[in-house]
Amino acid sequence: MTARRRGRLIAVEGIDGSGKSTLVRALARVLRRDGWSVTVSSEPNDPVVGRSALAVSARDPWRAAAYFTLDRLAARPELERALATHDFVFLDRSFYSTLAYQGSALPARRRAELAAWQRRVAVAPDLVFWVRLSVDSALERVRRRGRARASTERRRILEQVDRAYARLSRDRRWVTLEGDRSPRELVEDARGRVVRRWPRRARGRGRR
Ligand code: ADP
Repeated sequence: MTARRRGRLIAVEGIDGSGKSTLVRALARVLRRDGWSVTVSSEPNDPVVGRSALAVSARDPWRAAAYFTLDRLAARPELERALATHDFVFLDRSFYSTLAYQGSALPARRRAELAAWQRRVAVAPDLVFWVRLSVDSALERVRRRGRARASTERRRILEQVDRAYARLSRDRRWVTLEGDRSPRELVEDARGRVVRRWPRRARGRGRR
C-alpha cells in the first residue's frame, strides 16, 4: 500500500557542475535549523545502474533512459516513506534529468513516450529548482573539481541539455535560480522561495 503523503518533494535540476549538490546540502541544513524535518535523496539511487546508464547514453539514449527509469521505480517505495515522515524531501536530480539528458537526444515520438512513462513511474515533484548556469561556467567548475578538460562532444551535449531545461522550465512548478552567485546567496534565495510557498506549516511540525 502507498504510504499517505505528507511532505513536499523538491527536485533540484541543472547541468553537471551547476551547483545542485552544494545547494541541496546547504538548503537542507538551513531548513533543519529553521525547525523543519528534511531529508535528501539523489538519483540515480543505485550507482552501479547509474554508471551502466552513462556508459551507453551517447550511443543508445533510450536504453540509458530505461536504466534510469527502472532505478527510479525501484527507489520509489523508499521515497514515499521519506515523504510520509518528513516536511521536505530534496531530490538531487529527478525524472526531469532523464528527459533533459536522454530525452533531448531522442526523436520527438520517442521523447513523448519517455515522458509518458515517467508520469506513470515517478512521483511528481511539488517544486523544481533549476540551477541555471552557463555551460562554460559549469565546465570550468567541473574542471576545477579535478576532471579533465571537456570534449567538444561533451560541450555539445550540455548545450542540448541546457535548451531542454529551458523548455521544461516553462512548467509552473519550475523555479529558475541563477547559479552564478555565491552559495550563500543561492541558498537564501531558495530558502525564501520554499518558506513563502509553504508558509502555513507549523514550525517543527512532524519532527520526531
Ligand atoms: P552539481 O551537483 O550540479 O554537479 P556541485 O554542487 O557538485 O554541482 O558543484 C560543482 C563545483 O562547483 C564544486 O566544486 C562546488 O564546490 C562548486 N560550486 C558549487 N556551487 C557554487 C557556487 N555557487 N559558486 C561557485 N562554485 C560553486
